[in-house]
Amino acid sequence: MTPRQNAPRRLMRELHQIMASTDEAEVRLNNVVHLVASNMEAEVCSAYFIRDRDILELFATEGLKLEAVHNTRLQVGEGLVGLVASTGASLNLSNAQEHPKFVYRPETGEESYKSMMAVPILRTGKVVGVLVLQNQASRHYLEEEEEALQTVAMVLAELVVSGDLITAQEQSDGDAERGVVTRFVGTVFAEGLAEGVVVMHEPRVEIIQHLSEDYDYQRGRLVKGFKKLLCQIDEIMSAEDILHHGEHREILDVYKLFALDKGWRAKIERAIETGLTAEAAVQKIQIENRSKMIKTDDPYFKERLSDLDDLANRLIRHLMGKAGTAASKELPQNAVVIARNMGPAELLEYDREKLKAVLLQEGSQSSHVSIVARALGIPMLGKLEEGLLDIDEGEEIIVHGLDGEIFIAPPPEILETYRDAIAARVTLLARYDDMRDKPAITKDGVKIELVVNGGLAMDIEGMHRTGAAGVGLFRTEFQFMISKTLPRVRAQAQFYKSIIDSARNKPVTFRTLDIGGDKEVSFLKRDHEENPALGWRAIRIGLDRPALLRYQLRALITAAADTTLRIMFPMITNVEEFKLAKAILEKELSRHQRNKRPMPKDIKVGTMLEVPSLVWQLDELLPLVDFVSIGSNDLMQFFYACDRENPKMSNRYDTLSPSSLGMLRFIVEKCSAGNVPLTLCGEIGGEKVGALALLAIGFRRLSIAPAAVGPVKMMINSLNLSDVERFSDKLLSLSDPSLRSNFEAFARDNDVSI
Ligand code: PEP
Ligand code: MG
Repeated sequence: MTPRQNAPRRLMRELHQIMASTDEAEVRLNNVVHLVASNMEAEVCSAYFIRDRDILELFATEGLKLEAVHNTRLQVGEGLVGLVASTGASLNLSNAQEHPKFVYRPETGEESYKSMMAVPILRTGKVVGVLVLQNQASRHYLEEEEEALQTVAMVLAELVVSGDLITAQEQSDGDAERGVVTRFVGTVFAEGLAEGVVVMHEPRVEIIQHLSEDYDYQRGRLVKGFKKLLCQIDEIMSAEDILHHGEHREILDVYKLFALDKGWRAKIERAIETGLTAEAAVQKIQIENRSKMIKTDDPYFKERLSDLDDLANRLIRHLMGKAGTAASKELPQNAVVIARNMGPAELLEYDREKLKAVLLQEGSQSSHVSIVARALGIPMLGKLEEGLLDIDEGEEIIVHGLDGEIFIAPPPEILETYRDAIAARVTLLARYDDMRDKPAITKDGVKIELVVNGGLAMDIEGMHRTGAAGVGLFRTEFQFMISKTLPRVRAQAQFYKSIIDSARNKPVTFRTLDIGGDKEVSFLKRDHEENPALGWRAIRIGLDRPALLRYQLRALITAAADTTLRIMFPMITNVEEFKLAKAILEKELSRHQRNKRPMPKDIKVGTMLEVPSLVWQLDELLPLVDFVSIGSNDLMQFFYACDRENPKMSNRYDTLSPSSLGMLRFIVEKCSAGNVPLTLCGEIGGEKVGALALLAIGFRRLSIAPAAVGPVKMMINSLNLSDVERFSDKLLSLSDPSLRSNFEAFARDNDVSI
């Protein structure tokens, strides 16, 4: 051990003794500032803590006038100490008084001190105080000194965690008086209103023990922690190409790079050598990285900062044995879960009784996690601003999933407006309920068939509740996604039968397994793919692993005994694939017949139309199919070469454009000439203005989320179809990138309810 390594160890040892003593918190704090001042050869060491959310109060000092303790108070943002608190970045100044933010507090007697170093005291990433060092002589503190002060500041956070020095109440008091409300705005992915408390999907954990002198033990823990972290990253990366590709993939690449970075690991090991526990060492290095990166102007580094925070947080959670998501923990009764992003399978893991809303910093509207949220009726907002992940767990929160707003710690007036919104929504939902048994028919007498998209047993209930005519798309993969093992044929058959039975003679169209892309199933390991949406997914897996498809078809045939079986295949790219899939079905049907099992009364076999290439084979395809169902989510992602999961892309190209509507109209005309029933089952059909445009170009059957049936039916009932048909005729030849505002204007001018 070199003398340079020895000095921090000595400081840590003495710090350890002070913190481990049974003295009162304030006494321990006084001892710490005294120790730091003498060990670091400073005339002053002072500790400020935040009270009433944004008041910094001097709690202890060595060197300043003692009467200033508990009297000197600064606003966060005021003076140099306030600056450190508001930015979270440390300051190292050889002449503090020259700094434009310097303010002089006579009661402290600090006029004679020229140099100053101040570091934030952080608790789970948030500033809870500031630790300051001052010297009379003008000097620049060394990097090692800054690191040492940061370590002490980190350990001091323990006093806040224990609540002995300042209670959580004292920290946050004042919000109510001043009416401090935090408001975030995002995009509505699934409509609804919710009131609850914040739960972090990947919770930050509080470090309880910072100091340890058992270096070998801590090093051993670190090795194990890294192993688990790397395993987790590999696991997420192999699944992540399914879960969140695009932008998220980049983040994971960076994760992996940093996780493998020898420099990072060596720094953590060195921090352990100074007497920190493994988790405190990770935190210390992260605080240092943070304080360096926060000062750079490079936007790339600034963006990477939260990725690194995430990574360090993951490693700390592994070290503390708390690696799972909040879904595996006890949830409060009204949880509003906040995440950077999540996959559909992760959402399905939550207890639905307790999950009231989900807020994503990223996400996109047509991603499967949003589709699942809509299917579950869970309000979901996405693309929320930076800072979302810094909200404290347990905060009260209101989610206005109609306007796309959330409010943290809402005061009474906002609560009142929110409750008014709930009442209005209840009235509106009651109006939709009243329309349940009325047909969806336009003012000029054209009947439109509304069916629902589903994937869970509860969707059938949604179908009955809304009076929809059946299930136009049953996403069978949801059952597979929530299962840890491959569901057996018998379990699948029972599930499909329960769906058919509960649909009570209304038709249900089952889509065979559509896994891959962003839909992960735990029992099928897949190779890493650069472009998973364009990769091995849906029917491509079914044709390459025919056993998987055959067993599913067997289960569907069994479940549909004596009724009509309606089946369609996802992601069919050419006629040949449809023929191959249908041949597998026919083989299974013959097998069933040979075994003298009860057969379905009738079988209708169709295809999803989600890949543009198939649009150019409709003449060959249509004679072979009983029906066609357009999956506009995928069709549009391939049509525009625009990843549906990538939040940066989600508003880039409008599905209501002359080109896409032109293609859809072409399909309508082909199917109509071929006398083949056509449905559209993508998300645009569930938006009122989207549905309006689709009717205008000839669609008469839409499969939409149960929650969209009421609003879309109301739109249909208020529409004169021939008017919008005439209106859209001229529009499709425009060169505009979007016709959305034209359809909106039409609706406004013609009193169509959108
Ligand atoms: C679609 O692609 O439009 C569709 C309905 O299928 P999914 O959203 O499940 O991919
Ligand atoms: Mg699809």
